[in-house]
Amino acid sequence: MRAEELKLDELVKFSEGLLSLHGRRLIIHDMHAFGQFRKDLIDMAGVEYARRILTRFGYYEGQADAAAMKRIFKWEDRTEWLKAGARLQSMSGVAKTQLKIISLDEIEKKCHIEVQWHESGEVEEHLSQFGQSDNPVCWILAGYASGYCSFCLGFKVFFIERKCRGAGSRICMAEGKDEKSWGGELRKYISYFEAEDIQLKVDALTKELQKKDRELSKQKLKLDTLERKAELDAVEVHSASFRKVLEMVSRVARFDTSVLITGESGTGKEVVSRYIHRLSPRHGKNFIAVNCGALPETLLEGELFGYKAGAFTGAVRDRIGLLEQADKGTVLLDEIGEVSQEIQVKLLRALQEREIVRLGENIPRKIDVRIIAATNRNLNDDIEKGRFREDLYYRLAVVIIELPPLRDRKEDILPLARNLVGKVSKKLKLPSLKLDAKCLDYLMEYDWPGNVRELENVLERAAVFSGDGAIMPEHLPKNLVSTAIRSESFKGGTLESVEREYILSILEKTGGNKTRAAKILGIGTATLWRKLKEMGENRK
Ligand SMILES: [Zn+2]
Repeated sequence: MRAEELKLDELVKFSEGLLSLHGRRLIIHDMHAFGQFRKDLIDMAGVEYARRILTRFGYYEGQADAAAMKRIFKWEDRTEWLKAGARLQSMSGVAKTQLKIISLDEIEKKCHIEVQWHESGEVEEHLSQFGQSDNPVCWILAGYASGYCSFCLGFKVFFIERKCRGAGSRICMAEGKDEKSWGGELRKYISYFEAEDIQLKVDALTKELQKKDRELSKQKLKLDTLERKAELDAVEVHSASFRKVLEMVSRVARFDTSVLITGESGTGKEVVSRYIHRLSPRHGKNFIAVNCGALPETLLEGELFGYKAGAFTGAVRDRIGLLEQADKGTVLLDEIGEVSQEIQVKLLRALQEREIVRLGENIPRKIDVRIIAATNRNLNDDIEKGRFREDLYYRLAVVIIELPPLRDRKEDILPLARNLVGKVSKKLKLPSLKLDAKCLDYLMEYDWPGNVRELENVLERAAVFSGDGAIMPEHLPKNLVSTAIRSESFKGGTLESVEREYILSILEKTGGNKTRAAKILGIGTATLWRKLKEMGENRK
């Protein structure tokens, strides 16, 4: 078969409702409607994107035509098959195309082909919509030639329009070459042939952002750990009870032994477990703290063990549980006493077998994690009442570290307070913040039911009120100041005498400063003056 023997009416089957080229459905376009479409595309997407889209549109068409020509005919040689593409373009009315093969080396995969387009439909439409252009406008034609020749030759051929009637030349002429032959010149044009999937771009950006986010949170975690690392080291520990705790920590840290940390809330169970992790051989890996009391049962189960997508309503995708995520690190199960029976069984299995099963799966997966548990409950009571499994308790409580309440280690209150003020001053950016000596007694005498955490909260609150200066007694919560005073000065007596004692003791604490005393007492200065006057009169 030779290209010039191609006849449109032989190629295309015309029947109503269906035009086809040997099984490939064709449609006839109105050129002017197409021109309008092309204009819209340029207006909406911009010239560059419109050019890309139309070049690729042509490319697909060229490819499809080349494939059809191969399927339908047997060509004398490859040149004829190539020329058939030009003939098809001419027959379909997009342009009168002439093709000249300047050189072709199929072994080296090199070629140099020239096409000329006369009466290009694209030029006509472009001229009528936009007038003469600075650049060639036969985008579909260039795409078509590239797609057709690439398919025929089995290597990529790129056509670049050199002269275009739309840009003032007499005829349109394009050159087609393989990538190598083009060399660096192609770089300017290559993007017109490449698809840019916007969704892919968005996905890639999203991924990038997520990665950044993860890196950031990792860094934050690191910083966090560093900060917390310093926390325990920097605090002088005076009390024997807490020194004993630290000694146990340093002994147990090196081994993978399960540790149960007990103590009232706010005694620093998480800080101590981080400290264990830090001193352990696992310190380079993750430390993950889970508050078992804060999550409903199903959520907690999913968090800990992970799940397969569809395991329960809302499980949209697979999730790796924290016990797996902590890989070679440490997991703190805080408030372990709040865990349901069902999860207790699963935890026991995880500890015994060193493997877990994700929800909705039945494949056991190995885990390598050190478990530290913490509780403020008396688990022995819970065992007796059947609320906590004894076997799990013994798995968890190989070593028990009991954190003493702050009131039982009063010697540590001041070093802790000083350390916390330093921390708060950094956190709130109050560089001149310090603790006034007048506060010390109050801090020492208070009972601290909320322990170290309460101390920290009290100091942070006081720092806010002090406004970057010294934290004074009046910046401390009223209950703290009054309890302290009551415990030292309450000796009973009439309401009047108690009031007098109280007022005088506050005045003493404030060094006679009536404004501050009034603030602590929660009354106006005028009222205080009046009361003092009355008291003076009563004394007489
Ligand atoms: Zn042109």
